[in-house]
Amino acid sequence: MGTKVKGSPDTEYRYFLKEEEMTSFTLRTTARCEMIDITERLAALVKESGIRNGNCLVFVPHTTAAVTINENADPDVPRVILAVLDRIVPLADRYRHAEGNAAAHIKASLFGASQTVFIESGRLVLGTWQAVFFCEFDGPRTRRVQVGLTAG
Ligand code: ZN
Repeated sequence: MGTKVKGSPDTEYRYFLKEEEMTSFTLRTTARCEMIDITERLAALVKESGIRNGNCLVFVPHTTAAVTINENADPDVPRVILAVLDRIVPLADRYRHAEGNAAAHIKASLFGASQTVFIESGRLVLGTWQAVFFCEFDGPRTRRVQVGLTAG
């Protein structure tokens, strides 16, 4: 929220928005591979921050998870994405990574660890069909999503 600061030259208090706010939330994933729509959670954080115009940076601090933007109007879209990813990056393919989750690392790098969405008039600027997805590639696990909100 805004920071209460004693104004000058009069004695009124004025509220100034912080220029940047870092926050995070956790997610419990339930499948090995899964795309979870986090748009509403992000929109709520933007609203809570009081930031009217700026940027919302979403960052996933994991090596086998990612964040992407795509359609969620038709739930078949994330399903198809995951199915095709499995074909492109098979679960077992003589990978040298001893932990056994090389496919998840590769998928995470293909999608990337962050996305940025503009904030305009206190709302996320997304296309009609766009949603922000947390992408699990090595679940189920408890995951963290970091959100940086910047005014300006
Ligand atoms: Zn690994």
